[in-house]
Order: sequence, then C-alpha cells, then structure tokens
Amino acid sequence: MDHDCIDLNLKQTASATLPTEYGQFRILVFQTRGSDLAHAVLIKGNVAGKEGIPIRVHSECLTGDALFSMKCDCGEQLEEAFKYLSKKPSGVIIYLRQEGRGIGLANKIKAYALQDTGLDTVEANQALGLPIDSRSYHEAAQIIKHLKIKSIDLLTNNPKKLESLQKCGIKIAKRIDIKIKPNKFNSGYLKIKKSKLGHLLTN
Ligand SMILES: [Zn+2]
Repeated sequence: MDHDCIDLNLKQTASATLPTEYGQFRILVFQTRGSDLAHAVLIKGNVAGKEGIPIRVHSECLTGDALFSMKCDCGEQLEEAFKYLSKKPSGVIIYLRQEGRGIGLANKIKAYALQDTGLDTVEANQALGLPIDSRSYHEAAQIIKHLKIKSIDLLTNNPKKLESLQKCGIKIAKRIDIKIKPNKFNSGYLKIKKSKLGHLLTN
C-alpha cells in the first residue's frame, strides 16, 4: 500500500438507476481490462465539480455485507454509510471487490478456521502466509477522479485508506467516523483492528 499510485486503466462498463431502501442512486460498474472483477459505484445526486462529497470506499465482505455475519463490522459499516447518505443531497458508495482485506473468500474462511482455534485476525493471516492487508485504494482514487469530484468527506475509521487516497491525489475535506456497537462475536476483532491495524475506533 505504500507503493506509488498505479494507473489501473479502469473503464466504466455499465450504468443504470438503482432504487434502494436508503434512496435513489445511479449504479456504475468499473472494470480493468482483462479482469472479471466489476467494482460497483453508487451515486446519489450531482457530484461532478463539487467539494465535500460524502464517500464510503467499502471493500467487499461477502459474509458481513450479504450473509449477516457477526464476526466483523463490515455490513454495519456499509449500512451506516447508506444511512448517512440518506440524509445528504449527494454522496457516493464505492464498493471494491477485494474480499477479505484482499485475500479472497476461500482464504478468509481458512483464516476464520484458525480463528476458531484461538488465533486473532492478524495471526491467522500470518499463519497462512498471507498478507494482513493487501487492499488497494488506487481504483477508488481513479473512480473519484473520473467522477470529477473536487474533495471528499471520507466515511472511514481506517487512516491507511485516507492516506492512500491522498497519495493518489484525492483531496479529503474531512474524515467522518463510523460508529459501530461491538457484539460478543466481533468485539475481539474490533480490538485487534484498533491495536494491530491502527483503526480509529472510539468505542
Ligand atoms: Zn467483514
């Protein structure tokens, strides 16, 4: 994540309207040539040429986002972002297809199996010889530039995400906390996010 910003040659490949429980959006699909991975971008209102557009850059978590998993806080963070945007005239959700902090679903579930034996989220990845966090936000930066957004209010607790976007030339007007109440399954995970991964969690 410390390497320079890479031009991934992302192209918008589809778009349509998308009504949601949290308001009316436009959905855009972005892909890199030669990759099947399709990133989804939800846009509310007019964002081109605007300052301080609220944006959630969310990395895919199938178990948390779609399968109601209580092992992490991903689904709740995504929902909080939608709720936040529902009160604003404009905003963007960038849904990046980098499951399991970039290691993919199968590896994430292998790491969960090790966590069942007592390892924490960082130790489990290390035991499998996998990176602890291989997510990249270069795609997100390119999408924000493509949308001609001048500056953003980033909804995140992750300072690395903020830094990475800034390195790619994105102007951050402010960071907006996402407050999640821990449950008995994810409280340990949230503590590790704070102590080992540097997330700024207030609870
Ligand atoms: Zn998750």
